[in-house]
Amino acid sequence: MHKINIRSSGSGVILETAKARYALDKVKEDSTDFHIISHAHTDHLPRRVMGKPVMSNETKHLAISRGVRGLDDGIIDTDKIKLIDSGHILGSTAALIEDEILYTGDFSMSDRFFLKGFKPPKAKVLIMEATYGHSRYKFQNFEDIVNDFENGFRAAKKPRLVANK
Ligand SMILES: [Zn+2]
Repeated sequence: MHKINIRSSGSGVILETAKARYALDKVKEDSTDFHIISHAHTDHLPRRVMGKPVMSNETKHLAISRGVRGLDDGIIDTDKIKLIDSGHILGSTAALIEDEILYTGDFSMSDRFFLKGFKPPKAKVLIMEATYGHSRYKFQNFEDIVNDFENGFRAAKKPRLVANK
């Protein structure tokens, strides 16, 4: 493997390999060859795309609806980057870059409703930019959360709406 350079920019990451320069999620700099956006939560969306845009079609539509500029010409497909479902939200993906560097934003290993759990491929380098990646965050079992929600919903006198921003 050739030498690579990884550094933070904004709340995103800049990755430089011998072949290309990649912006990963919410970066602040210009002049990258590719801009990979993992998913359309606002803490991962840049104000504008700063290289050839690589993301799922669903993420593109959600990003445009949230005001991300630079997507008028659509997304591109390149053999340098393989997108893999990451199971976090509609359209969320991880990216296998140059067949050896795996980048993920937020992800879920479990199947949930229509979302397939993340099945990470083998890689030589793993880069994660995930909000709850710190070990102090430990979540309840998903089925327990659903049961708690259903029990709370049944006990409530008025229906409630739960939204994910
Ligand atoms: Zn997210």
